[in-house]
Amino acid sequence: MNTTKSEQLFERAKKVSPGGVHSPVRGFRGVGGTPRFIESAKGSRLTDVDGNEYIDFCMSWGPLLFGHQDPEIGEAIKGALSKGWSYGAAERYSLEFAEDLIKAIPLLEQVRFVSSGTEAVMSAIRLARGYTGRDFILKFDGCYHGHADSLLVRAGSGLAEMASPDSAGISSRTASETIVVPLDDDKALEAAFEVHGKNLAAAIVEPLPANNGLLIQRPEFLKKLETLCRKHGTLLIFDEVISGFRVALGGMAELTGIKPDLLTYGKIIGGGMPVGAYGGRKEIMEKIAPTGPVYQAGTLSANPVAMSAGHAMLKKIIRENPYPKLAATGERFLGELQSIANNTLLFPTHIQKFGSISWMICNGKETVRSIEKIPGEQKAYYAQIFHGFLNEGVYFAPSGYEVGFLSTAHTDQDLNQVLEAAKKVFKNVKA
Ligand SMILES: *Cc1c(COP(=O)(O)O)cnc(C)c1O
Repeated sequence: MNTTKSEQLFERAKKVSPGGVHSPVRGFRGVGGTPRFIESAKGSRLTDVDGNEYIDFCMSWGPLLFGHQDPEIGEAIKGALSKGWSYGAAERYSLEFAEDLIKAIPLLEQVRFVSSGTEAVMSAIRLARGYTGRDFILKFDGCYHGHADSLLVRAGSGLAEMASPDSAGISSRTASETIVVPLDDDKALEAAFEVHGKNLAAAIVEPLPANNGLLIQRPEFLKKLETLCRKHGTLLIFDEVISGFRVALGGMAELTGIKPDLLTYGKIIGGGMPVGAYGGRKEIMEKIAPTGPVYQAGTLSANPVAMSAGHAMLKKIIRENPYPKLAATGERFLGELQSIANNTLLFPTHIQKFGSISWMICNGKETVRSIEKIPGEQKAYYAQIFHGFLNEGVYFAPSGYEVGFLSTAHTDQDLNQVLEAAKKVFKNVKA
């Protein structure tokens, strides 16, 4: 495979931007090698600057439920664009999108649009603090909520302890207001609420953790979290940035029947455009400016072009209900991929899947629900598998801790091509 142009562009990019990229995982550090510079994309496929084509399972990290350049979303974008692309004033795009969202997801009594998942989560946390008058928040190790300071933290040593910064530049004082507990650990969760419950403004969880592998939680664990939140007057925030509109229209809240006080969205909600949103009970949402004392604003929030993309996607989801078919396709394809892996790879693997989201555990064959249980060989083994597939024209996420996404644009022919490639790729992977 010729990658000369990508290599040249990467050298240039590294001079003008840190690591040559604008979001770290794009830089291929987790798997090594040269990131492919993408020239265009359509349906299930990416084309790079050297003319190589790839069947894409990264799908812009999840947003592209209907594949690249979905015609309906494309038309909506062009329609909005032809009238102007930013007004910084009240407009109908966000109004009509919000009305349809609220109709579709009853837990959202009101919604506020922002421009990214990080922004949605950061604002929801501020709102929870403003609403409850409490300072502390609780998060789970292995859940990612974007890069706001108070959430870019990890567990200290010992259970239910104060967090340590998970990035340089975050003060230990900020981190100390976040309590971090392991996923899938009822005792640790109870202990944390026992000690900190009365000071907790919010507990935030990815109800389907999908940013550190796919750590599917037991429904009872999520229910326990809900019960503890109610008992202690703590707001429950479902961060559905990756699961909302991806596993079901109403995300994991719909599938679990749990009723979080606030929900955050990003990724899929914009249909591939930069959109985030947070919402929930009206009585809480009205604490936001201009009706309430919690400040939150955005110059380009509810951008009309982005709104029309998200709204077109929502209408298409409502009309087509793509989820049963996506899940069935995932079941068949990933089942076959698992058998090929079982027959060919030198180490055990386990493909964890939930609807159109999947993750391959390398050197393990049991369900993994917390980060401590991820096998130590994950990174090195996945890197080989990733590069094997890349060479065969299949683009999985460039990190062993990121998940894969199916879209409705992946055809049976695409998937069969990937299964054929897998037979070849897996044979050459070394243990
Ligand atoms: C991606 C993600 C975020 C951050 O969203 P950005 O748009 O990248 O800022 C937050 N929470 C979850 C669950 C995510 O998957």
